[in-house]
Amino acid sequence: MAYEVTATRRRPQAFDALAGQEFVAETLKNTIESKKIAHAYLFSGPRGCGKTSTARILAKALNCGNGPSATPCGKCSHCIEISKGISPDVIEIDGASNTSVNDVRQIKEEVLFPPQSSRYKIYIIDEVHMLSTSAFNALLKTIEEPPEYAVFIFATTELQKVPATIKSRCQQFNFRLVPIDTVEKLLADAAAEIGIKADEEALYWVARESTGSVRDAYTLFDQVAAFSGDHITFEKIRDKLGLVGVDSLNVIFEDCASGRSREALLKLDEFLQNGISIEQFIANSTDYLRSILLIKNGITKESLLGQSHERFSMTVLNSWNPIQIERAISIFLQLYKDIRFSLSPRYELELAVSRLSWLSEYVSPVEVKVAIDQARNILLGSQAAMQQSSRPVQGAQNGANLAFLMNPTAWQQNPTPRTQAVPPQPLKPSKPLPVLDALKNLPEYRNATSVTENAASAPNPSPENPDQPAPNPIPPASQNSAQPTNQFPPASQNFAQSTNSVPPASQNFAQPTNSVPPASQNSAQPTNPVPPASQNFAQSTNPVQGEWGSAAAAVEIGRGEDFEKIPEDRIQKFVIDALSVRDEILAALFMNTRAWKKSPGKVTFEVGSEFDRVSFASSRNKILDAFGKIFSAPVDFEAVLRKVEVVDLSENAPPAVKLLCETFRGSVVGVTDSAGEQVPAASEPAQNAESARGEEADSGFEEEFAPEDIMPDDD
Ligand SMILES: [Zn+2]
Repeated sequence: MAYEVTATRRRPQAFDALAGQEFVAETLKNTIESKKIAHAYLFSGPRGCGKTSTARILAKALNCGNGPSATPCGKCSHCIEISKGISPDVIEIDGASNTSVNDVRQIKEEVLFPPQSSRYKIYIIDEVHMLSTSAFNALLKTIEEPPEYAVFIFATTELQKVPATIKSRCQQFNFRLVPIDTVEKLLADAAAEIGIKADEEALYWVARESTGSVRDAYTLFDQVAAFSGDHITFEKIRDKLGLVGVDSLNVIFEDCASGRSREALLKLDEFLQNGISIEQFIANSTDYLRSILLIKNGITKESLLGQSHERFSMTVLNSWNPIQIERAISIFLQLYKDIRFSLSPRYELELAVSRLSWLSEYVSPVEVKVAIDQARNILLGSQAAMQQSSRPVQGAQNGANLAFLMNPTAWQQNPTPRTQAVPPQPLKPSKPLPVLDALKNLPEYRNATSVTENAASAPNPSPENPDQPAPNPIPPASQNSAQPTNQFPPASQNFAQSTNSVPPASQNFAQPTNSVPPASQNSAQPTNPVPPASQNFAQSTNPVQGEWGSAAAAVEIGRGEDFEKIPEDRIQKFVIDALSVRDEILAALFMNTRAWKKSPGKVTFEVGSEFDRVSFASSRNKILDAFGKIFSAPVDFEAVLRKVEVVDLSENAPPAVKLLCETFRGSVVGVTDSAGEQVPAASEPAQNAESARGEEADSGFEEEFAPEDIMPDDD
């Protein structure tokens, strides 16, 4: 028997054999079984994913001697002729080479003659997007009013190039790329069929290289099988395809993660000497870093990673935080674009590898912002804690903040306040926080470090059990903001609002929705472990948690409660609860408030920052509307900026904190100067304040929070 390429030999012959296109197959089967046969079909999708095969199966299903049937027999003369491509009534036309209007006119004339021996006369037009505009126009009339027996099946890889007039007259089917594990399974079957042994990892790479196209995968498989003898192994294909395996990448990225740029660059040279192309190295490295990012986010699914997560280097995983890995990926993605226009692609690659070697030192703007906010909190919060001994928990929280900032491990692993899934591996301490050189020059720096050492002995839960995920020694900044009694929230609140417009899921879960009793708080802990101090804090400040968490209360929310009957001390929780199911953003806004006072038809509360006050002002109509729905009568509100204790930065702050605060003074909002007046935000365009306020009343929440709209409200 003549040699047949795998793609042809294994071309699917029935709907059920269409790999990865189950939805299309199912729908087509249903149309045939219910005898609702359209006159025009349009199959779109990437190359090699089964469009032409499906068209032929559909043709067989329609013309089978035992049909029309969703399961064509494959044995009758019609089926055999169609499989071989010689049926006189199934006409396959390559749109790419028959693009002119004359070609289409010929089709129009031919279609007037009924089928010779079959039920339907079927035109399969591949690459239909290649037809010229006039050809499309000529076709239009025919597919609009075709003879009873005519069926058109169009296939295209570029759906956007098919005119809407054609699309709207066809039944459309979108074919998808076939998942890698499906392709891998098909390849394993193909190997078994011809009696070749094939390692799983080798087939995985063949599948992966074919990027979801079954035909490409089979073609590559044929090549690999040709030089592999009777056993396809990863080693054999790695050299042929020039792949860089995960083990090699582990080695080079471990060097990068440990800052050994010399070793990394020498290793890169070794790879390139061995004939691995620069493009291939970049592509495989990007895949690798992506897998590292997924693992870092707690995803260990093998079909996503390509291999077991245990094969990836723990050194790399432990050295870089998610932000740094994101940065590494973007370096490589950009690199792939850059090498096309580069003087020397190799230099570009070496530069990227060298950059990765100091990636551990990289601190993102987000992290800098968090650090500054934390520094402010320490500075302001520790002052307040001393003056307000009646709130011991506050001090504990600040202690935790301080410990967080000063503890490099916590810092590295929790760079942002967003909720992060913890990777399954125990993480070792990462590199310490980079120290600003400017700090070292301060004469008082030594004093500052002694302060930080004292601070570090404050409540700082270090991993007691290495099997446990890394603990989160401080609640995320946004959680702070959820505490109504938080003494000095402005910084962390600003942060929570400006970067996360929606409260994190865990926060919703723990606080505002309250449809479950306090037990839910405990259940939230395993995923986001909070130190005992802050946990106590959360509970002690929410004595009514249990009542509001009851199912009965949840049912009542938002049903026009009588405003006058709600006790004053619970009104904030009531509003947050009601809003959290309707408008998370507003609910988050209300979480930052405190000191609620009720007067007939009106509530007054304090907000921690100018930003918050402006937010309330600009959402005024929306809030009044919400209040109207929540309570039985219209309720007005007033948001008052709370007075912040004036702290003299020059006297009591550790020099490190002082320097940070002074350096970034321009971006801090809501701090009063020694005269008790507002320190204006650096970017305040005062002349626009009036006009902006006038317009923003009814616009959408997101729009209102465009940076230029954030300015003090002076009523
Ligand atoms: Zn048949």
